[in-house]
Amino acid sequence: MSSLQELVRPELRGQTPYGAPQLDVPVALNTNESSYPVPQVVVDQIARDVAEVAVSLNRYPDREFTRLRELLAGYLRRTTGEPVTAQQVWAANGSNEVLQHIVQAFGGAGRTALGFTPSYSMHPLISERNGTTWVDGLRDADPSKFDLDGDLAVDQTRRHDPELIFLCSPNNPTGTALDLDIVRRVYDATERAIVVVDEAYTEFSREGTPSAVSLLPGRDRLVVSRTMSKAFAFAGARLGYLAAATEFSDLLRLVRLPYHLSTVTQAVACAALEHTDTMLAMVDKIKTTRDDLLEGCAALGLQPVPSDANFVLVGGFDDAAATWQALLDRGVLVRDVGIPHHLRITAGTPEENDTALRALRAVLEGEY
Ligand code: PMP
Repeated sequence: MSSLQELVRPELRGQTPYGAPQLDVPVALNTNESSYPVPQVVVDQIARDVAEVAVSLNRYPDREFTRLRELLAGYLRRTTGEPVTAQQVWAANGSNEVLQHIVQAFGGAGRTALGFTPSYSMHPLISERNGTTWVDGLRDADPSKFDLDGDLAVDQTRRHDPELIFLCSPNNPTGTALDLDIVRRVYDATERAIVVVDEAYTEFSREGTPSAVSLLPGRDRLVVSRTMSKAFAFAGARLGYLAAATEFSDLLRLVRLPYHLSTVTQAVACAALEHTDTMLAMVDKIKTTRDDLLEGCAALGLQPVPSDANFVLVGGFDDAAATWQALLDRGVLVRDVGIPHHLRITAGTPEENDTALRALRAVLEGEY
Protein backbone atom coordinates (compact mmCIF):
# COMPACT_ATOMS: atom_id res chain seq x y z
CA MET A 1 0.00 0.00 0.00
CA SER A 2 1.29 3.50 -0.83
CA SER A 3 1.86 6.03 1.94
CA LEU A 4 -0.04 9.30 1.80
CA GLN A 5 3.30 11.04 1.19
CA GLU A 6 3.56 9.03 -2.03
CA LEU A 7 -0.03 9.71 -3.01
CA VAL A 8 0.03 13.47 -2.49
CA ARG A 9 0.74 15.61 -5.59
CA PRO A 10 4.51 15.29 -6.23
CA GLU A 11 5.14 19.03 -5.91
CA LEU A 12 3.65 18.99 -2.40
CA ARG A 13 5.83 16.16 -1.09
CA GLY A 14 8.01 17.30 1.79
CA GLN A 15 6.63 20.86 1.69
CA THR A 16 5.73 22.69 4.90
CA PRO A 17 2.52 24.72 5.26
CA TYR A 18 2.49 28.48 5.90
CA GLY A 19 3.09 28.77 9.60
CA ALA A 20 3.73 32.07 11.34
CA PRO A 21 3.74 30.90 14.99
CA GLN A 22 0.43 31.53 16.78
CA LEU A 23 1.66 31.64 20.38
CA ASP A 24 -0.11 32.89 23.46
CA VAL A 25 2.34 35.64 24.44
CA PRO A 26 1.86 38.98 26.23
CA VAL A 27 3.17 40.98 23.25
CA ALA A 28 2.44 39.57 19.76
CA LEU A 29 4.16 41.71 17.13
CA ASN A 30 4.75 39.10 14.46
CA THR A 31 1.91 39.17 11.91
CA ASN A 32 1.29 42.89 11.32
CA GLU A 33 -2.18 42.81 12.82
CA SER A 34 -3.60 45.83 14.58
CA SER A 35 -3.18 45.62 18.35
CA TYR A 36 -6.35 47.68 18.82
CA PRO A 37 -9.66 45.87 19.29
CA VAL A 38 -12.67 46.56 17.09
CA PRO A 39 -14.42 49.69 18.48
CA GLN A 40 -17.57 48.99 20.55
CA VAL A 41 -19.87 50.94 18.23
CA VAL A 42 -18.84 48.63 15.37
CA VAL A 43 -19.08 45.53 17.57
CA ASP A 44 -22.68 46.51 18.37
CA GLN A 45 -23.50 47.11 14.71
CA ILE A 46 -21.98 43.75 13.75
CA ALA A 47 -24.01 41.98 16.44
CA ARG A 48 -27.24 43.60 15.18
CA ASP A 49 -26.52 42.92 11.52
CA VAL A 50 -25.44 39.31 12.06
CA ALA A 51 -28.58 38.68 14.15
CA GLU A 52 -30.63 40.13 11.31
CA VAL A 53 -29.14 37.90 8.61
CA ALA A 54 -28.93 34.77 10.81
CA VAL A 55 -32.50 33.80 10.03
CA SER A 56 -31.71 33.57 6.33
CA LEU A 57 -28.65 31.35 6.74
CA ASN A 58 -30.79 28.53 5.33
CA ARG A 59 -30.20 30.22 1.95
CA TYR A 60 -26.92 30.66 0.11
CA PRO A 61 -25.38 34.14 0.29
CA ASP A 62 -25.56 36.80 -2.43
CA ARG A 63 -23.04 35.25 -4.83
CA GLU A 64 -22.25 38.68 -6.24
CA PHE A 65 -21.76 40.32 -2.78
CA THR A 66 -23.37 43.35 -4.34
CA ARG A 67 -23.61 45.66 -1.36
CA LEU A 68 -20.10 44.83 -0.16
CA ARG A 69 -18.67 45.66 -3.60
CA GLU A 70 -20.54 48.98 -3.61
CA LEU A 71 -19.12 49.88 -0.20
CA LEU A 72 -15.58 48.82 -1.15
CA ALA A 73 -15.75 50.83 -4.38
CA GLY A 74 -17.02 53.81 -2.38
CA TYR A 75 -14.10 53.51 0.02
CA LEU A 76 -11.62 53.41 -2.88
CA ARG A 77 -13.28 56.40 -4.58
CA ARG A 78 -13.19 58.41 -1.39
CA THR A 79 -9.57 57.62 -0.49
CA THR A 80 -7.99 57.69 -3.95
CA GLY A 81 -10.20 60.19 -5.77
CA GLU A 82 -10.43 57.72 -8.66
CA PRO A 83 -13.76 56.79 -10.26
CA VAL A 84 -13.71 53.12 -9.20
CA THR A 85 -17.00 51.26 -9.84
CA ALA A 86 -18.43 48.28 -7.96
CA GLN A 87 -18.00 46.20 -11.15
CA GLN A 88 -14.24 46.74 -10.98
CA VAL A 89 -14.06 45.41 -7.44
CA TRP A 90 -13.61 41.78 -6.43
CA ALA A 91 -13.42 40.39 -2.90
CA ALA A 92 -12.63 37.13 -1.13
CA ASN A 93 -11.72 35.63 2.23
CA GLY A 94 -8.59 37.69 2.85
CA SER A 95 -6.35 39.11 0.18
CA ASN A 96 -4.56 35.76 0.16
CA GLU A 97 -7.66 34.30 -1.47
CA VAL A 98 -7.90 37.29 -3.80
CA LEU A 99 -4.29 36.63 -4.87
CA GLN A 100 -5.10 32.95 -5.27
CA HIS A 101 -8.02 33.79 -7.56
CA ILE A 102 -5.67 35.89 -9.71
CA VAL A 103 -3.13 33.06 -9.94
CA GLN A 104 -5.83 30.47 -10.66
CA ALA A 105 -7.20 32.61 -13.47
CA PHE A 106 -3.97 33.87 -15.04
CA GLY A 107 -1.19 31.51 -13.86
CA GLY A 108 -1.08 27.73 -13.84
CA ALA A 109 0.97 24.95 -15.41
CA GLY A 110 3.48 26.13 -18.01
CA ARG A 111 3.20 29.74 -16.84
CA THR A 112 5.61 31.88 -14.84
CA ALA A 113 5.23 34.43 -12.05
CA LEU A 114 7.96 36.94 -11.21
CA GLY A 115 8.43 38.69 -7.87
CA PHE A 116 11.22 40.74 -6.35
CA THR A 117 12.63 39.20 -3.20
CA PRO A 118 12.45 39.80 -0.27
CA SER A 119 8.74 40.36 -0.56
CA TYR A 120 5.53 38.77 0.71
CA SER A 121 6.22 35.05 1.19
CA MET A 122 2.74 34.01 0.03
CA HIS A 123 3.28 35.33 -3.52
CA PRO A 124 5.59 32.41 -4.41
CA LEU A 125 3.63 29.94 -2.28
CA ILE A 126 0.28 30.74 -3.89
CA SER A 127 1.90 30.70 -7.34
CA GLU A 128 3.63 27.36 -6.88
CA ARG A 129 0.73 25.66 -5.13
CA ASN A 130 -1.30 26.51 -8.21
CA GLY A 131 1.22 25.07 -10.63
CA THR A 132 2.86 28.36 -11.66
CA THR A 133 6.65 28.46 -11.94
CA TRP A 134 8.05 31.07 -9.58
CA VAL A 135 11.01 33.29 -10.48
CA ASP A 136 12.74 35.01 -7.57
CA GLY A 137 13.79 38.38 -9.00
CA LEU A 138 16.22 40.78 -7.34
CA ARG A 139 15.20 44.11 -5.82
CA ASP A 140 18.69 45.55 -6.29
CA ALA A 141 21.99 44.23 -7.55
CA ASP A 142 23.25 44.91 -4.02
CA PRO A 143 21.27 42.47 -1.82
CA SER A 144 21.67 44.72 1.23
CA LYS A 145 19.48 47.34 -0.51
CA PHE A 146 15.75 46.76 -0.21
CA ASP A 147 14.21 49.41 -2.47
CA LEU A 148 13.19 48.08 -5.87
CA ASP A 149 15.55 49.28 -8.61
CA GLY A 150 13.35 50.31 -11.56
CA ASP A 151 15.91 49.52 -14.29
CA LEU A 152 16.56 46.10 -12.80
CA ALA A 153 12.81 45.38 -12.47
CA VAL A 154 12.30 46.28 -16.15
CA ASP A 155 15.30 44.14 -17.23
CA GLN A 156 14.04 41.12 -15.29
CA THR A 157 10.52 41.59 -16.66
CA ARG A 158 11.86 41.55 -20.25
CA ARG A 159 14.22 38.66 -19.57
CA HIS A 160 11.70 36.32 -17.93
CA ASP A 161 8.64 37.48 -19.89
CA PRO A 162 6.30 36.12 -17.17
CA GLU A 163 2.51 35.84 -17.25
CA LEU A 164 2.27 37.33 -13.75
CA ILE A 165 4.29 39.96 -11.89
CA PHE A 166 3.95 40.68 -8.19
CA LEU A 167 4.85 44.11 -6.85
CA CYS A 168 4.20 45.00 -3.22
CA SER A 169 3.76 48.55 -1.95
CA PRO A 170 4.55 49.16 0.86
CA ASN A 171 6.66 46.05 0.61
CA ASN A 172 6.40 43.34 3.22
CA PRO A 173 8.83 42.65 4.92
CA THR A 174 11.04 45.61 4.04
CA GLY A 175 8.47 48.39 4.54
CA THR A 176 8.92 51.01 1.85
CA ALA A 177 6.31 52.11 -0.70
CA LEU A 178 6.99 51.88 -4.42
CA ASP A 179 7.39 54.84 -6.74
CA LEU A 180 4.43 54.59 -9.15
CA ASP A 181 6.80 55.30 -12.00
CA ILE A 182 8.28 51.83 -11.45
CA VAL A 183 4.80 50.28 -11.68
CA ARG A 184 4.26 52.15 -14.97
CA ARG A 185 7.62 51.07 -16.35
CA VAL A 186 7.19 47.41 -15.38
CA TYR A 187 3.69 47.43 -16.92
CA ASP A 188 5.03 48.92 -20.16
CA ALA A 189 7.94 46.44 -20.29
CA THR A 190 5.55 43.57 -21.02
CA GLU A 191 2.59 43.10 -23.30
CA ARG A 192 1.16 40.07 -21.63
CA ALA A 193 1.87 40.01 -17.89
CA ILE A 194 -0.81 40.65 -15.32
CA VAL A 195 0.83 43.15 -12.95
CA VAL A 196 -0.39 42.79 -9.37
CA VAL A 197 0.34 45.60 -6.93
CA ASP A 198 -0.25 44.25 -3.43
CA GLU A 199 -1.23 47.29 -1.34
CA ALA A 200 -2.08 45.46 1.90
CA TYR A 201 -0.41 48.20 3.96
CA THR A 202 -1.16 51.26 1.85
CA GLU A 203 -3.16 53.13 4.51
CA PHE A 204 0.00 53.41 6.62
CA SER A 205 1.99 55.14 3.86
CA ARG A 206 3.46 58.55 4.40
CA GLU A 207 1.27 61.51 3.47
CA GLY A 208 0.97 62.02 -0.27
CA THR A 209 1.98 58.50 -1.37
CA PRO A 210 -0.37 57.77 -4.29
CA SER A 211 -2.07 54.40 -4.75
CA ALA A 212 -1.60 52.34 -7.90
CA VAL A 213 -5.41 52.58 -8.19
CA SER A 214 -4.69 55.89 -9.95
CA LEU A 215 -2.94 53.93 -12.72
CA LEU A 216 -5.89 51.64 -13.48
CA PRO A 217 -7.57 53.67 -16.25
CA GLY A 218 -6.32 52.34 -19.59
CA ARG A 219 -4.30 49.51 -18.04
CA ASP A 220 -6.36 46.33 -18.32
CA ARG A 221 -3.55 44.08 -17.06
CA LEU A 222 -3.04 46.03 -13.83
CA VAL A 223 -4.59 44.84 -10.53
CA VAL A 224 -4.40 46.45 -7.11
CA SER A 225 -5.08 44.15 -4.17
CA ARG A 226 -6.04 45.39 -0.73
CA THR A 227 -7.14 43.99 2.61
CA MET A 228 -9.20 44.87 5.66
CA SER A 229 -6.78 42.86 7.83
CA LYS A 230 -4.31 45.65 8.59
CA ALA A 231 -5.47 49.29 8.74
CA PHE A 232 -9.11 48.27 9.30
CA ALA A 233 -8.00 46.14 12.28
CA PHE A 234 -10.13 43.32 10.91
CA ALA A 235 -7.80 40.37 10.31
CA GLY A 236 -10.20 37.91 11.91
CA ALA A 237 -13.02 38.85 9.54
CA ARG A 238 -11.01 37.61 6.52
CA LEU A 239 -11.83 40.16 3.88
CA GLY A 240 -9.54 41.12 1.05
CA TYR A 241 -10.42 42.83 -2.22
CA LEU A 242 -9.01 44.17 -5.45
CA ALA A 243 -9.67 46.81 -8.04
CA ALA A 244 -8.98 46.18 -11.72
CA ALA A 245 -10.63 46.50 -15.12
CA THR A 246 -14.26 45.31 -15.03
CA GLU A 247 -13.45 42.48 -17.43
CA PHE A 248 -10.64 41.32 -15.14
CA SER A 249 -12.93 41.09 -12.11
CA ASP A 250 -15.57 39.37 -14.24
CA LEU A 251 -13.08 36.66 -15.24
CA LEU A 252 -12.40 35.78 -11.60
CA ARG A 253 -15.90 34.31 -11.39
CA LEU A 254 -14.51 31.39 -13.40
CA VAL A 255 -12.28 30.28 -10.53
CA ARG A 256 -14.02 31.29 -7.33
CA LEU A 257 -16.00 28.59 -5.57
CA PRO A 258 -19.72 29.27 -5.63
CA TYR A 259 -20.84 31.46 -2.72
CA HIS A 260 -17.29 31.92 -1.47
CA LEU A 261 -18.17 34.91 0.73
CA SER A 262 -20.59 33.79 3.44
CA THR A 263 -23.62 35.83 4.40
CA VAL A 264 -21.97 36.42 7.78
CA THR A 265 -18.70 37.61 6.24
CA GLN A 266 -20.57 40.00 3.96
CA ALA A 267 -22.67 41.40 6.82
CA VAL A 268 -19.65 41.85 9.09
CA ALA A 269 -17.55 43.53 6.40
CA CYS A 270 -20.40 45.85 5.38
CA ALA A 271 -20.90 46.88 9.02
CA ALA A 272 -17.20 47.76 9.30
CA LEU A 273 -17.24 49.69 6.03
CA GLU A 274 -20.23 51.72 7.21
CA HIS A 275 -17.96 52.82 10.07
CA THR A 276 -14.85 53.33 8.00
CA ASP A 277 -13.62 56.40 9.88
CA THR A 278 -14.04 54.68 13.25
CA MET A 279 -12.30 51.54 11.99
CA LEU A 280 -9.39 53.56 10.62
CA ALA A 281 -9.16 55.87 13.64
CA MET A 282 -5.99 54.23 14.98
CA VAL A 283 -4.01 54.42 11.74
CA ASP A 284 -2.35 57.76 12.56
CA LYS A 285 -1.49 56.56 16.04
CA ILE A 286 0.02 53.36 14.63
CA LYS A 287 2.09 55.43 12.19
CA THR A 288 3.44 57.47 15.12
CA THR A 289 4.19 54.28 17.05
CA ARG A 290 5.97 52.89 13.98
CA ASP A 291 8.14 56.00 13.78
CA ASP A 292 8.86 55.74 17.53
CA LEU A 293 9.79 52.09 17.06
CA LEU A 294 12.14 53.07 14.26
CA GLU A 295 13.80 55.76 16.37
CA GLY A 296 13.94 53.48 19.40
CA CYS A 297 15.72 50.78 17.39
CA ALA A 298 18.15 53.31 15.91
CA ALA A 299 18.90 54.58 19.42
CA LEU A 300 19.81 51.01 20.38
CA GLY A 301 22.43 51.01 17.60
CA LEU A 302 20.33 48.81 15.29
CA GLN A 303 19.60 49.56 11.63
CA PRO A 304 15.86 49.97 11.08
CA VAL A 305 14.73 50.26 7.46
CA PRO A 306 12.45 53.28 6.73
CA SER A 307 8.83 52.12 6.68
CA ASP A 308 5.51 53.14 5.11
CA ALA A 309 3.77 50.21 6.79
CA ASN A 310 2.69 49.16 10.30
CA PHE A 311 5.95 47.30 10.90
CA VAL A 312 9.66 47.92 10.81
CA LEU A 313 12.36 45.65 9.43
CA VAL A 314 15.30 46.00 11.77
CA GLY A 315 18.86 45.07 10.83
CA GLY A 316 22.03 44.87 12.85
CA PHE A 317 21.54 41.66 14.84
CA ASP A 318 24.57 39.37 15.10
CA ASP A 319 22.31 36.34 15.29
CA ALA A 320 18.68 37.15 14.38
CA ALA A 321 17.39 33.67 15.33
CA ALA A 322 18.98 33.84 18.80
CA THR A 323 17.59 37.34 19.36
CA TRP A 324 14.15 36.18 18.20
CA GLN A 325 14.22 33.39 20.80
CA ALA A 326 15.55 35.68 23.55
CA LEU A 327 12.75 38.16 22.87
CA LEU A 328 10.19 35.37 22.94
CA ASP A 329 11.59 34.22 26.30
CA ARG A 330 10.70 37.73 27.48
CA GLY A 331 7.17 37.44 26.13
CA VAL A 332 7.73 39.45 22.94
CA LEU A 333 6.98 37.64 19.68
CA VAL A 334 8.45 39.23 16.54
CA ARG A 335 9.11 37.76 13.08
CA ASP A 336 12.25 36.18 11.77
CA VAL A 337 11.63 36.61 8.04
CA GLY A 338 14.79 34.76 7.06
CA ILE A 339 16.84 37.83 6.09
CA PRO A 340 20.22 37.39 7.79
CA HIS A 341 20.75 39.81 10.73
CA HIS A 342 17.20 41.19 10.48
CA LEU A 343 13.92 40.85 12.38
CA ARG A 344 10.54 42.36 11.53
CA ILE A 345 8.59 44.03 14.33
CA THR A 346 4.94 45.11 14.06
CA ALA A 347 4.03 48.51 15.52
CA GLY A 348 1.58 47.67 18.31
CA THR A 349 0.32 49.97 21.04
CA PRO A 350 2.78 52.47 22.60
CA GLU A 351 2.90 50.20 25.68
CA GLU A 352 3.74 47.14 23.56
CA ASN A 353 6.33 49.22 21.76
CA ASP A 354 7.98 50.19 25.06
CA THR A 355 7.96 46.58 26.24
CA ALA A 356 9.50 45.43 22.96
CA LEU A 357 12.19 48.11 23.05
CA ARG A 358 13.00 47.34 26.70
CA ALA A 359 13.26 43.64 25.89
CA LEU A 360 15.47 44.43 22.89
CA ARG A 361 17.76 46.57 25.01
CA ALA A 362 18.06 43.83 27.63
CA VAL A 363 18.80 41.19 25.01
CA LEU A 364 21.38 43.39 23.26
CA GLU A 365 23.05 44.09 26.57
CA GLY A 366 23.51 40.37 26.98
CA GLU A 367 20.84 39.68 29.59
CA TYR A 368 19.61 36.55 27.82
N1 PMP B 1 -0.35 40.88 1.23
C1 PMP B 1 0.62 41.20 2.10
C2 PMP B 1 1.75 42.02 1.59
C3 PMP B 1 0.56 40.77 3.42
O1 PMP B 1 1.54 41.08 4.26
C4 PMP B 1 -0.55 40.00 3.85
C5 PMP B 1 -0.69 39.51 5.27
N2 PMP B 1 0.40 39.35 6.00
C6 PMP B 1 -1.52 39.68 2.91
C7 PMP B 1 -1.40 40.14 1.61
C8 PMP B 1 -2.69 38.80 3.22
O2 PMP B 1 -3.51 39.31 4.16
P1 PMP B 1 -5.01 38.83 4.30
O3 PMP B 1 -5.16 37.49 3.66
O4 PMP B 1 -5.22 38.80 5.77
O5 PMP B 1 -5.83 39.87 3.61
